Amino acid sequence: MPDKEIIGRFAPSPTGPLHFGSLVAAVGSYCLARQAKGRWLLRMEDLDRPRVVPGAADEILRALDLCGFEWDGDILWQSRRDERYQEVLDLLRSRGLVFDCACSRREIVASAPHVGEEGPIYPGTCRQGLAKGRVPRALRIRVPDGVVGFCDGLFGPTEQHLQTAVGDFVLRRADGLFAYQLAVVVDDHDTGVNQVVRGADLIGSTPRQIYLHQCLGWQVPTYLHLPLALDQGGEKLSKRHGAMPLEVSRAGRWLLAALRFLGQKPPAGLEGAPPSEILAWGVAHFAVTAVPREAAVPALEM
Ligand code: GLU
Repeated sequence: MPDKEIIGRFAPSPTGPLHFGSLVAAVGSYCLARQAKGRWLLRMEDLDRPRVVPGAADEILRALDLCGFEWDGDILWQSRRDERYQEVLDLLRSRGLVFDCACSRREIVASAPHVGEEGPIYPGTCRQGLAKGRVPRALRIRVPDGVVGFCDGLFGPTEQHLQTAVGDFVLRRADGLFAYQLAVVVDDHDTGVNQVVRGADLIGSTPRQIYLHQCLGWQVPTYLHLPLALDQGGEKLSKRHGAMPLEVSRAGRWLLAALRFLGQKPPAGLEGAPPSEILAWGVAHFAVTAVPREAAVPALEM
């Protein structure tokens, strides 16, 4: 039997232009998928309508194009997949895994036992059914009293106790929108993604996503989280920082900076080379063993 084909992906959120952190995720996921002779898919995570910035998706596509990225197949737009997400929610409901929740944020904050990774832990108020007269707002999934673990391609063995770290989490929000955690899992599954390479800011979401894959009986992809981008002062880089300039002459410099950020050593001869040549070097030479766990973003006035 031949080895299974690798399918990687890049999944930017069009909440602004392509910034250095997302370019790093694009470069890392691209090089690793292509090096394995695999496919590389592009998904536009435009699910959170209120946060989508008009024109940002086009800008991201233009930046990727300038950098010489080539993706396989059509772009998947999350905003067009509500029916599919609903179908999966219905499936989870039929298995008794989700429940309606009537709590407002204020109520949760007031009665949360403690604060978890992403704010107050849901105190379980509606877990056994809604109290009389309460109106359902969000839909949550029950999480088990157990640890979800995985071996990250860079950070190694990683685990999380879902109940104490995040609690029963939301799959459909009070405003009716499907949650990121659900959409990512459904999309990765439906498009056959088996190699997830993305920024370390998402490592805390991975156990939730693995748990969802397991609830649905789906194959769990492998995960590799790329180093956290720190600014020159050692602080986590804000997403607003460093929008990529849309000029081809700068695209090459940005790609080289992204490769160096990832611990790779592109030869000096690639300075000034066309972006596609720089990417091809990355595909041929990318070494996970050289990637650091944390790295400072270079000065980007390039
Ligand atoms: N859309 C997310 C972001 O831009 C990435 C999601 C993922 O790779 O799973 O941060």
